Amino acid sequence: MRAVDIIIKKRDKEELSTEEIEYFVSAYTRDEIPDYQAAAWAMAVLLNGMSPREITDLTLAMAHSGDMLDLSETVDIGLDKHSTGGVGDKTSLVVLPLVVASGVPVGKMSGRGLGFSGGTLDKMESIPGYRTDLTKSEFLSQLETIGVVLTGQTGDLAPADGKLYALRDVTGTVPSVPLIASSIMSKKIAAGAQRIVLDVKAGLGAFMHSVDEARRLAELMVEIARLAGRRATGLISDMNQPLGFAVGNAIEVKEAIHTLQGNGPADFTEHCLHVAAHMLNLTDKAGTVDEGREIVEKVYQSGRAADKFRKLVSAQGGDVGYVDDPEKFPKAEMIESVGAPRTGYLTRVHARVVGEMAVVLGAGRSEKGQPVKHDVGIEVHHKVGDFVKEGEALFTIHADSRELLEEVRPELLAAHQWSDVPVEPLPLFYEAIVDQQ
Ligand code: URA
Repeated sequence: MRAVDIIIKKRDKEELSTEEIEYFVSAYTRDEIPDYQAAAWAMAVLLNGMSPREITDLTLAMAHSGDMLDLSETVDIGLDKHSTGGVGDKTSLVVLPLVVASGVPVGKMSGRGLGFSGGTLDKMESIPGYRTDLTKSEFLSQLETIGVVLTGQTGDLAPADGKLYALRDVTGTVPSVPLIASSIMSKKIAAGAQRIVLDVKAGLGAFMHSVDEARRLAELMVEIARLAGRRATGLISDMNQPLGFAVGNAIEVKEAIHTLQGNGPADFTEHCLHVAAHMLNLTDKAGTVDEGREIVEKVYQSGRAADKFRKLVSAQGGDVGYVDDPEKFPKAEMIESVGAPRTGYLTRVHARVVGEMAVVLGAGRSEKGQPVKHDVGIEVHHKVGDFVKEGEALFTIHADSRELLEEVRPELLAAHQWSDVPVEPLPLFYEAIVDQQ
């Protein structure tokens, strides 16, 4: 087989065979196909698309390009969740404890933030001592003993995706639904997931700007899961405004802890309960989403999820003193609250701008590998639809330099838009794509 023939076939809008896809992925992973040919192929896929069968073959070929984690001896069912990323999205920190305290173990491998979109590992590392580099055997033994793990990728999972993603990043080929779907699903499958809730974000602070695009991605991933012998639910959630109030690292962990203790923002709490209910619906614990919801509500009220989070932090070497007293998290040097410039109803709290300003403050990175600051970030105080009076606190900036604080303030003010007449709040979720198999 020759790489050039496979590129030409895709260029000419023909369907690739399973063998051609497997060859292309394995030869590229072994460095036998150069980047320029892989880039040409990725662009042909972006322009001409792929059938669900081709996308499933691509997903499985990438999943099998490295280690495959086998969870079958550790848990009854490999349950996982994935968010396509957003601003203020600290969902895993709350959902995992909720689901685990409901009786279903979850071991999750998360990622770091990139660009305006935050990452779970960066957030969890705000807790002094917390390890995100567990080995495969540590992952499995912790999953067996306490039923919950939240770490970075262990071993060499889906290396083909790692290589291809880096190439796509610099060749304008990231925004291809088949490539995004196979990239996400290959990592989940390699990590042993059999049942997956996919939280696909739509809006100003998401990869997918429209609900239609998000639905296409969600439907495709649910279908890949089915064709690959797994089961997935796709949830389409709003990412026009930040989720919850806190956007940063330590301030997001604090918000997650408060949420686990029953004092979180209403939107974020509801979001977490909804995702957790859908996760339980994919297991034997619940026959319907409503049943799942009943279970997680009880667990949430009981405080057992908060205990699970504490156990998780302790098992991974984190200082639980910070969980017991979140006020211990170091504060940024400057904390400034900014008042509303006018009275009115909020029509927009632009998620991407808020995320970008958190990066400017140092909470995220603009290049891979940069260190992040844990104590800086932004708290927004209102949601779209809120009535706010002039001078009332609109947002708070946590900065470690006056210069950066001055830089982000006008941008954050402009991220808030107003109306004189009442405005509907934004929905949290648009729809759910539930595989009925
Ligand atoms: N996240 C991934 O893991 N892969 C993509 O291609 C896009 C987002």
